[in-house]
Amino acid sequence: MLKNYNRKILKSLKVRSKQAFLTIATMKLNIVFKSIVVFTLLSFSTLSIGTSTGPPSKEDFIDLKEIMPNLRSDLRYYGDNNFVGQPIQGYNSPKALLTKDAAYALKKVQDELERLGFGLLIYDAYRPQSATEHFVKWAEDESDTTMKLQFYPNIDKKDLFAKGYISVKSGHSRGSTVDLTIVSLKTKQILNMGSPYDLFDEVSSPTHTETITKNQHSLRMLLKRRMEKHGWKSNPKEWWHFTLENEPFPTTYFDFPVE
Ligand SMILES: [Zn+2]
Repeated sequence: MLKNYNRKILKSLKVRSKQAFLTIATMKLNIVFKSIVVFTLLSFSTLSIGTSTGPPSKEDFIDLKEIMPNLRSDLRYYGDNNFVGQPIQGYNSPKALLTKDAAYALKKVQDELERLGFGLLIYDAYRPQSATEHFVKWAEDESDTTMKLQFYPNIDKKDLFAKGYISVKSGHSRGSTVDLTIVSLKTKQILNMGSPYDLFDEVSSPTHTETITKNQHSLRMLLKRRMEKHGWKSNPKEWWHFTLENEPFPTTYFDFPVE
């Protein structure tokens, strides 16, 4: 009797220990499985942060001087030497910002010119949408003609919209448009292109030849060809204005201030 009882106890102990072993094994497996799930989730989330494109933002822009130390600038809308005669809204710092694609495409032009002893001078680059709105407000006030003689001597202020010199949206606000000219690195002289920056007049068309010298026209063509070679398209009205052909944000008008 006693022997039988002992055997039963031993048997039940064996069964219990087997169950305990199975329970521990299952728990361990669960932990391993959960760890794998957590690890996988973590690596996916890290991956998605690393390759995230996200909405376009100022993080997609770069200060041109960071990649072109010899670049010169005369950022007209930061100061008052412009057709409005006042610093323009949104230009809080004398910096030339462009999208990274545009900046590196411009660097190719700068590098090429530097090898010839020349360089670029930037008049305007990224322009916040609020600055364009400042221009529009100014253009609607026909009584303010302070800067007419210098910037639009042959055009009525009211015609600036119709003639396309001012518009409610500017390519500059998409971050891949730039206004520039060429300077000599040796003499620091700005090359004479036959008409000054932002002169709203037919003489500023890059193809205009009638009232400028052959040399001035050749310099416009030199700038145009160098820019086109590296993916920029020129503007039919302004020899200084270029837009990157494959601009990265063709439909986004940015409005963060330049600072
Ligand atoms: Zn422009």
